[in-house]
Amino acid sequence: MVSTQVCMRYALLVLVACLALAITAVSQNVNTRFRIEQGTGAITRTGNMGGSCEDIDMDLDAVYREAIDMARVAVAAMDGYTSDATVRASLFTFFGIQEDESTHTVSAGSAARFSRVKANLQEVIDDSQRQFSGLFPSLFCSEKWRWRTRYFHNRQTGKPTGQLLKSVNPDIEWLTWSPRFREYGPATVMCQGDTMAFTTSQDRKLSITLCPRYFSYPRRKDTLQPWRSGQRTIAAGTNMAVALSSPATFLHELMHMTTRSNGVTKKAYGPVLTGYLAQVEGGQKTVTNADNYGWFATAMYLNGVDWSRIIAGKRISGPLTRRSVLLEDGHGSWRTFLRGKAGNETIDTDGMDMDGDDCSTSPWDE
Ligand SMILES: [Zn+2]
Repeated sequence: MVSTQVCMRYALLVLVACLALAITAVSQNVNTRFRIEQGTGAITRTGNMGGSCEDIDMDLDAVYREAIDMARVAVAAMDGYTSDATVRASLFTFFGIQEDESTHTVSAGSAARFSRVKANLQEVIDDSQRQFSGLFPSLFCSEKWRWRTRYFHNRQTGKPTGQLLKSVNPDIEWLTWSPRFREYGPATVMCQGDTMAFTTSQDRKLSITLCPRYFSYPRRKDTLQPWRSGQRTIAAGTNMAVALSSPATFLHELMHMTTRSNGVTKKAYGPVLTGYLAQVEGGQKTVTNADNYGWFATAMYLNGVDWSRIIAGKRISGPLTRRSVLLEDGHGSWRTFLRGKAGNETIDTDGMDMDGDDCSTSPWDE
């Protein structure tokens, strides 16, 4: 009896410990993963640094959690590669990954890319378990944490030197600057044009900035759940561009933050051009193009249909058929980037002008 009690007490302790671990493993959220600027009022060097998320019209945590969930679903889909023709076709469309026609497994020539894509998605999932440390990574809900300057700033003191940038390099008229994030200064990237968000990284000093357009684009979708669950329908022929969502864009930025892919000077945006990127040069550029992950994950998340032709189609159970990406569509954009001079810095703007403006007659049910 005594030994049973001890045993039970021990079992209870183990159970409690396991529960605590389980809770820890799922308790991370956007507020623990990111240092989120909440300050309002004047920007100072020691307090409010600008870029506040205080009064935004979005449940950032819900969006972040869905982004991680999309990565989980994508990894799980990849685990089911041999048994799911739509998964195979989608991996071909977005990453140029070829199947072995006889066994329906990943072809030998695509095995390395398959592993890398999966590992990069897994890294986003693993990263969500970390906590922010000090100022990094930071999440800003406007670009007001940095501003334009035409002057050189001292990288140690953060103070202007009085020297014009142009006098040193005639090609550089202005750069962005912030006294507390001066490491991210040397770039001409802000929320210009149709930019949705951008990610900066140098060493491990990471930040994601959500731009006004992220909050204001037409038909903003903060969740894909109604379409994932089948509560809302996706008609055949729907252009994938209208499936653009806040979580997918967040996932795109998380891909930059975790993989810190750099050195790519031309990037593809939108389901059409990411698909195109997979068909040129053997698709090798897709692995470092964050938008390919965002659209692949969207395709896997909205798994009631087959998105491998970029328009919604019936899921197929037969062998992979060759898909042609519709290039005449016009959605998406190519961006060319100036590479930062500062070593491993990656600064990337994500203008995803594919919110469905041109697809107002599409049968996407909203
Ligand atoms: Zn990007």
